[in-house]
Amino acid sequence: MIEHNENKLQIIFANHTVTFTTPIVVTCVKQIVDVLSGRSAPLITDDQLVTDDQLVAHVTAEADIDPKVVLYVLELMDSSHCLYRSSEAELTLLDAYYGALGDSPEMSRTRLSTPKLALFCSARSADGLEDVLEDAGIGCTPSLIEAGETIQELEKRVERALALGVSRAALFDFSYRSPTAAFFNRAALQAKVSVLFGNCDGLIGRIGPFVLPGSSPCLECLNSRFLSNSTADELLAFRSYRLRNQHRAGAPAPAHPVFLRAITALFVMELAEIITLKPPQTLGGFIEYPSSGIVPVRRSFLRVPRCAECAPKKAPRFAWNAVFGSPDVKGARYDA
Ligand SMILES: [Zn+2]
Repeated sequence: MIEHNENKLQIIFANHTVTFTTPIVVTCVKQIVDVLSGRSAPLITDDQLVTDDQLVAHVTAEADIDPKVVLYVLELMDSSHCLYRSSEAELTLLDAYYGALGDSPEMSRTRLSTPKLALFCSARSADGLEDVLEDAGIGCTPSLIEAGETIQELEKRVERALALGVSRAALFDFSYRSPTAAFFNRAALQAKVSVLFGNCDGLIGRIGPFVLPGSSPCLECLNSRFLSNSTADELLAFRSYRLRNQHRAGAPAPAHPVFLRAITALFVMELAEIITLKPPQTLGGFIEYPSSGIVPVRRSFLRVPRCAECAPKKAPRFAWNAVFGSPDVKGARYDA
């Protein structure tokens, strides 16, 4: 809070600044902030919460201001995100973060604790992912996919998870070219569930794409774009890799454990943005993080018009060389 003079006072937040003018409003704001920040004597004890009525009565008595004006200023501060309401006396780091962004900590906490999310990850990233999910307040336990698990088994588990009324899914730490990722993409599209992908492929970490079924490019669109300029040898390697792993989940490429932990945290940050209904950075694109410390790059890509997974299915049309011969009637042919 910066008080320039009796006619102007500013409050600075992480992403916005609010300016109050006129002496009566400035006095009122000062009184309210002093009480709520504990600078003046507390209104109540025993860690109870201050109510609007108590606050208005206090400021009215201290500064001799009409209660209607105090209420008006309180509403101003509320609507400009200077205040957030909480039923908890003690705020966690996460509450303070969302409050400083101008969000309701309680609303964010509720959304994060019931994310309606089906999250699958590799076995090696499970511990790190669980830790970061807890820090982010996301109430979800990831399902592990062990290297060597059959795709058939995995299909059953994913379909069961997607049928449980989830509204979003996520897969972490599988190569985007792997049959496991391809299957997950297909299952989410068929269930019409939005899905976020992330992985740590050796020296490159990727967050995104976030796929909205029927609206944004899917993971197979991304693979097609990747492969559109590849040589015959690259295509051969891609097809062989898919064929070799088509029945079992493969193991992720080796990655530095600290780099894996960093990408895990960034993946969960993006997941938290999606769950708290903020605009995701990975819709129609993905963010690429090289492990060598080079600046991350956001790459956008478009849907592939004939993508086998997400293009709308059209009725089959006749081949150009369709031939319609005359029928045989009583032994005679009419096409002669
Ligand atoms: Zn697609």
